[in-house]
Amino acid sequence: MSVPALRQPKKSRKTTPLKKSIPCRKPEEEYVILTLKGDKKLVVTSDGYHGIIKMEGMYLCVLCGTELDLDDKCKAEHKNLQSHLKTFALFPHLEGFVENLIRQLNKNSCYCTICNVMVSTNFLMRHVEGEAHKQELERAVTRSTVYKPK
Ligand SMILES: [Zn+2]
Ligand SMILES: [Zn+2]
Repeated sequence: MSVPALRQPKKSRKTTPLKKSIPCRKPEEEYVILTLKGDKKLVVTSDGYHGIIKMEGMYLCVLCGTELDLDDKCKAEHKNLQSHLKTFALFPHLEGFVENLIRQLNKNSCYCTICNVMVSTNFLMRHVEGEAHKQELERAVTRSTVYKPK
């Protein structure tokens, strides 16, 4: 092997401060690409898509109503469960809300895939027309122009 013996850069090289180079705290976030009618694309978080909300000390699958350990492996397993996928299919995005991706969970509550939050049915319109939701939607659209699946 012809690696020069003098080259031992890793330790002695000055590392650049980490601060600057990490604008995003969650590099491991997984995304799902959704193609809507009219070929519009949105890229939402995988958790958002699967209805999994992070709560204090646990994850909650709002579709199944199942509490999960706050553990990424548990979460990934749940997304692949037959029972979850079956339940998942029962809550399609409401057509009337087009790209806003709202699932109706029951009479009183809905779930916003874009924002990854539960919304009471009474406040659904207010949510969809609210700034926070609009920003998330815009982010999902923007993401679709840059996101490359692994
Ligand atoms: Zn589930
Ligand atoms: Zn929303």
